[in-house]
Amino acid sequence: MINAAGTLTRLSGAPLAPGVLEAMAEADAASADMFEVQAHASRDIAAATGAAAGLVTSGATGGLLLSAAAVLARLDVGRMDRLPETEGPNEIIVARGQRNGYDHALRAAGARLVEVGLAEPLSGAGIREAEPWEYEAAFGPRTAAILHVASRRAAPSLAEVAEVARAHGLPLIVDAAAELPPQDNLRRFVGEGADLVIFSGGKVLGGPAGTGIMAGRAELIASAAMQVLDTDVRWADWTPPSDFIDRTRLRGLPRQGIGRSCKVGKNEIAGLLAALDHFLSEGDEARHARWLKTCRRIVDGLEGAGRFTVSIDGAERTDGIPLVELRCADPAMAERLRHCFTAHPTPVHTAFDPFRPDCVLVNPVCIRPGELPTLLDVLNP
Ligand SMILES: *Cc1c(COP(=O)(O)O)cnc(C)c1O
Repeated sequence: MINAAGTLTRLSGAPLAPGVLEAMAEADAASADMFEVQAHASRDIAAATGAAAGLVTSGATGGLLLSAAAVLARLDVGRMDRLPETEGPNEIIVARGQRNGYDHALRAAGARLVEVGLAEPLSGAGIREAEPWEYEAAFGPRTAAILHVASRRAAPSLAEVAEVARAHGLPLIVDAAAELPPQDNLRRFVGEGADLVIFSGGKVLGGPAGTGIMAGRAELIASAAMQVLDTDVRWADWTPPSDFIDRTRLRGLPRQGIGRSCKVGKNEIAGLLAALDHFLSEGDEARHARWLKTCRRIVDGLEGAGRFTVSIDGAERTDGIPLVELRCADPAMAERLRHCFTAHPTPVHTAFDPFRPDCVLVNPVCIRPGELPTLLDVLNP
C-alpha cells in the first residue's frame, strides 16, 4: 500500500529517519546498564527540550502511563509498588473537549479522570469551551495532576492551564504526541509551564514506531524511570547516575514497576536519539521544502484530472506539514474517491479532516519518492 494519510500507527507509521537503523545496530555491539542508557538519553532530551530531564518511552502512550505513575507515586517506593491501587490523590483533571482514547494509558496506571467544562462550539449549543475557573472548581484533596492535550484548537490555552496548575502546586502533564513540527514545540510546552511533556517518536520524528519522548521535572522523570526499568538488583549494589536518580531521596528500590510492560530496549533508545538528532539538524525549513517538493510533483502529475480542484495547503508555512488538497463538489464525492483509492490493487490511503469533509488530503510525510508514479496512477482516473 501507499500511505498518503500521514504518520498513522495503523498504516505502520513513518519512514525511519536517516541514521536510525545504523544507530540501532551500533547499540547492539556492547552490553550496557539500562539506568546509564536512559541517563544518557535524559541528557540528550534535556538539551533538546530545555527540560531538566527526559526518558525514552514506548510510544507517547507509554509516556502517558509513566506520567500518571510518576504523579501518583512521586518518589514514594511503597506507592510505586501498590499501583494501580492508590489510596492517596489519584484524580487527573482534563477538559471534556480534550478527552480521547489514549487516556486509557493514564487509567491503566491507577488514575481516575475527572472532566471539566463543555465543548459547546462543537455541539453547536454555545460559544464557550472549558475555562480555567472550572479546573479550580474541580480541585480537591484527591487531585493529583492536570492533563492538557496540546493542539492549535485546545481550550483553554496551555498558558492559562499552567497558571492554574502553578497556583495550586499541581503537576501539569502535556500530551504533545503529534505536535511536531514545528521544531520549536520541543521547547515550547516546557517553557509554558508543563511539568511533563510527551512526544511520539514514531510520527514526524521518524524514530522507531514503538518509541516516544517524555521530558520534564527531574523528580517525576526519576520516578517514571524507576517504574519502567528493571529493578531486580540489591540496594547496596545499585549505583544509578546521580544526575538522573538521587538515591539519597529513596528508601529502597521498588519491585518491577507498573511500567514494566512499557519496556524499551537500548536499540530503540539509540534509534530514537538518532532520529531526534536528525530532526534537529534538518530543521523546519529543509524538512518543509522536502515535503513541498513531493506535494508539487503530485500536483504536477494531477493536472487535468477533472473530478476535483487541486491546491497545496500550507505551502508557505514552514512550521507545519504541507498537504495536497483535492477539493470535491461535496463530502459524498470526497468519500467515494477515498474509497476508490483504497480499493485499488495498490491501495492508497489518504487523509481526512472533519473540518473540511469535501476534501481528500494527500499527506507527503510517509510517501517514498519511488512510490510517486504508482500513486499518480491511482489518483488519476
Ligand atoms: C498519536 C497520538 C498518541 C499516541 O502516540 P504513540 O506514540 O503512537 O503511542 C497519543 N496522543 C495523541 C494526541 C496522539 O496524536
